[in-house]
Amino acid sequence: MFSSETLKSHLSDSPLSPIADGLISATNTVLNQRRHGDTEKWLDILHALPGIFTDRFDFLQDTILIGKLEHATEEQRILLKQQLLKLHPWRKGPFNLFGIDVDSEWRSDLKWARLQDKISPLDGKLILDVGCGNGYYIFRMLGAGAKYVLGVDPTQLFIAQFNAIQRFSTDLPAMILPLRSEELPFGSIEKSNFQFDTVFSMGVLYHRKKPLEHLAELKKCLKLGGELIIETLLLDGDDDNELVPEKTYAKMPNVWSVPTESKLKGILEQAGFKNISTIDVSTTNVWEQRKTEWMTFESLSHYLDPKDSAKTIEGYPAPKRIIVRCEN
Ligand code: SAH
Repeated sequence: MFSSETLKSHLSDSPLSPIADGLISATNTVLNQRRHGDTEKWLDILHALPGIFTDRFDFLQDTILIGKLEHATEEQRILLKQQLLKLHPWRKGPFNLFGIDVDSEWRSDLKWARLQDKISPLDGKLILDVGCGNGYYIFRMLGAGAKYVLGVDPTQLFIAQFNAIQRFSTDLPAMILPLRSEELPFGSIEKSNFQFDTVFSMGVLYHRKKPLEHLAELKKCLKLGGELIIETLLLDGDDDNELVPEKTYAKMPNVWSVPTESKLKGILEQAGFKNISTIDVSTTNVWEQRKTEWMTFESLSHYLDPKDSAKTIEGYPAPKRIIVRCEN
């Protein structure tokens, strides 16, 4: 999935060439430390995908469309669905490949609809998507005209999903590397003077014990005057408060802090961001996040109190999310 040679040839031909060496060496270090035990299995799944190719794709719709039904035989479609299902769980989507609907756990299009008209235009921009999952939003960013999108995400299964999706079409100006934001090659980014025009961090902040450190990492990658879009869980209230879950929040063991809007804006200011404004606040409902054929584990309905859907199973306020934009 990550041969140094492929990475090198892709990155050195891309707008990321000034930081290609840093990215490759960071990726190699990470893979030496934690190459996933299922990598060979995923590679076999990718190799067994049907050899169909299409130049028909559409990243402007809610569903990422690649190929048309009539571009593949029924046999190829059966094989395609079988192989894609082996990359379960599909958390982000929806996608449609050659007529097959990949109906993921999240209707990720709903979040994009909330923000797409409220951020600076992405046309011609260099974009970093931190915690990009399987890259659903990378496709939407390309649809909005981005020049190049680098995604980083430590969950290697999601990168296998991205590789499965994109192998049916032409070489896209995008890539996902298996890095955490704290593993980005800041030294080489600083030395090269290369920085991104827009940085996204959606659904990541509350997974960090020290959110200020996460914001500092994002800031280092962002051009002066560039835009940060940050999305996180939100606690209601006008004060500078935060919810620190005792054990789990909505059954997630790795949620460290859920801030109020004022607390979030405070730490963004502390990190040095300017012109901070809220784009959207939404309560997540069971149409947006649910169990499907493509994600058969528990989902939101199992995380909420069965007697009171305004509360999580632990008795905390049910998940509400905020999207904020700000500038470096
Ligand atoms: N951005 C997507 C996915 C959010 S899920 C969306 O908004 O729908 C959170 C993702 O963050 C997961 O895929 C997880 O692997 C990734 N993640 C967790 N910790 C991270 C870190 N320190 N740096 C980068 N990504 C991280």
